[in-house]
Amino acid sequence: MPLSPADLPAVRGALLSWFDRAGRPLPWRVGPEGRRDPYRVWVSEVLLQQTQVARGRVYFERFLAAFPTVQALAEAPIEAVLKAWEGCGYYARARNLHRAADVIVREGMPTTYDDWRALPGVGPYTAAAVASLAFGEARAVNDGNVRRVLARLHGERHPAEAWVQARADALLDPARPGALNEAVMDLGATICTPRAPKCGECPVRAWCAAFASGHPAAFPAPKVRAAVREIRAVALLLGDAHEAVLERREGNLLGGLMGLPTEIIRDGETPGETLARLAERLGAGVTGELGTATHTMTHRHVTLTVYSGTGGPPRSHVADAALSRLDHKALGLWERRQASLFAGA
Ligand code: SF4
Repeated sequence: MPLSPADLPAVRGALLSWFDRAGRPLPWRVGPEGRRDPYRVWVSEVLLQQTQVARGRVYFERFLAAFPTVQALAEAPIEAVLKAWEGCGYYARARNLHRAADVIVREGMPTTYDDWRALPGVGPYTAAAVASLAFGEARAVNDGNVRRVLARLHGERHPAEAWVQARADALLDPARPGALNEAVMDLGATICTPRAPKCGECPVRAWCAAFASGHPAAFPAPKVRAAVREIRAVALLLGDAHEAVLERREGNLLGGLMGLPTEIIRDGETPGETLARLAERLGAGVTGELGTATHTMTHRHVTLTVYSGTGGPPRSHVADAALSRLDHKALGLWERRQASLFAGA
């Protein structure tokens, strides 16, 4: 039987009692329902966008250890914030957290969805999460997990954004909006998973159209993905994995972060020509090739060929800089080279 409005109270009840029993004990879920620490909820929601919960948990503990309060975050230099964000990707989010923390310290902690939305970098999802979890406001969150669970419950193969939001709003429990939001998120993350939903353990299968169809994983239909852009670049390691020439990147390729001096290989240019252009810019000499590091982001795949060299600008202490994962991989090439030289000695 497809889900009807009359079923909603029973579905809410089943979700909430399952959540009370089986919800995940995550480190940001501290404090009573509807009165969670808004700072912790906010940081966790920003961190978990595009990050697996297991990894996000480690990053969350590290970030909270560095900046235990919004005041501490606002007062920290941006370099320290980027350093604590290292590995989480999407560094614009760390910059926005820092800017928003400054606004919060000056103007006070927002308590409503609309006031959270007014902060730098806070989108509808984060605002709804913080408003419902920390302040008990009846706002439904809408992310990938919510979309999948609702598409399956209703048997909708092509759920539009507005459709998902309307179904999420209708399902929200007015008395426990934060818990209902978390219940749907947890169901999507642990039971109603993309490829192999565990329908046998699902508290709402009695109302689920996708389960009734016999092909629950066919809902929703896969999204057509934007093509991944291939980027080829060369980098020069002047120094070693501990002390090296670092530059602040410009543009949209890991922009704002520190990294090895890098040049993108232009159309019609050979890697050798790009390397010569890079070496000339730095006033450096090239001594050899260390290897290739690759890194995939949502819409970009970067292949970076790393060379060693001499001369050039002064070196910096690598451990003090906020580096991208691509740069850590590039520095790993130097360490591997050293290990093989040592083994061959
Ligand atoms: Fe997802 Fe299966 Fe539960 Fe339906 S019954 S919501 S497909 S886990």
